[in-house]
Amino acid sequence: MARMVNENSCEAETQSPEPQGPGRGAARWGPQHAGARELANLYSPGKRCQEWISVVLCFSLIAFNFIHLLANFHLGHSWYILLSIVAGILTADFASGLVHWGADTWGSVDLPIFGKAFIRPFREHHIDPTAITRHDFIETNGDNCMLTIVPLANMAFNFLTLSPAEVYHIYPWYCYLFALAIFVTLTNQIHKWSHTYFGLPRWVVLLQDCHIILPRKHHRVHHVSPHETYFCITTGWLNYPLEKLGFWRNLEDLIQSVTGEKPRADDLKWAQKVK
Ligand SMILES: [Zn+2]
Ligand SMILES: [Zn+2]
Repeated sequence: MARMVNENSCEAETQSPEPQGPGRGAARWGPQHAGARELANLYSPGKRCQEWISVVLCFSLIAFNFIHLLANFHLGHSWYILLSIVAGILTADFASGLVHWGADTWGSVDLPIFGKAFIRPFREHHIDPTAITRHDFIETNGDNCMLTIVPLANMAFNFLTLSPAEVYHIYPWYCYLFALAIFVTLTNQIHKWSHTYFGLPRWVVLLQDCHIILPRKHHRVHHVSPHETYFCITTGWLNYPLEKLGFWRNLEDLIQSVTGEKPRADDLKWAQKVK
């Protein structure tokens, strides 16, 4: 398990207020929390291997598709390209909210394979929000890279097999898919930056300040226990409208009425672990 220590950001986050709210008892927060230690130890070499393969494949496909998008660019598509990029970013933001909400709210670390591999990081993040700042590039981005491999591979295959006329017609749709794939791939990196208070490159802070990517202050709204709102972590553009609509609350009520499952039961269980 290779981890890169980001002391600056860690120091900054420990100065920020600890998550508080109902139902959290006297549990300690951060890397010393008993639940956080147990969750960190569940990060396995097999998981690490899956992340490495995902990152290498994903970034190779991104480079391949980017070159083909540039090679097939036509000025006449300019407005479509702009619209496609904005729509791609909005879709990525919504998808980040849906996946984050799903993993935070339902399921358990005890689920076979899936629980340890994909639910565990979400539980760890709530009881030790600084851990993400100590994860290296592979651990931060591995899972998101895995999600975009299949659509990116499909796009690459089509660039190799379609005629130029077919590519011309499908071009705006591919711009949408490419923007969506890029922002889905980068979501957890953007999320990590939103927890990093020192040592960020200037261009990252500028993007945060302009709210082109998730700003630090904005994401802190989510980190107030019981972690029930502001789930979107790519740009955060959809957090306010979804909160106003009561979108997540309504979805939880619906699922609870159908399945009888209580939202965030597993998350609460980990937060209350003291030994
Ligand atoms: Zn969360
Ligand atoms: Zn976070």
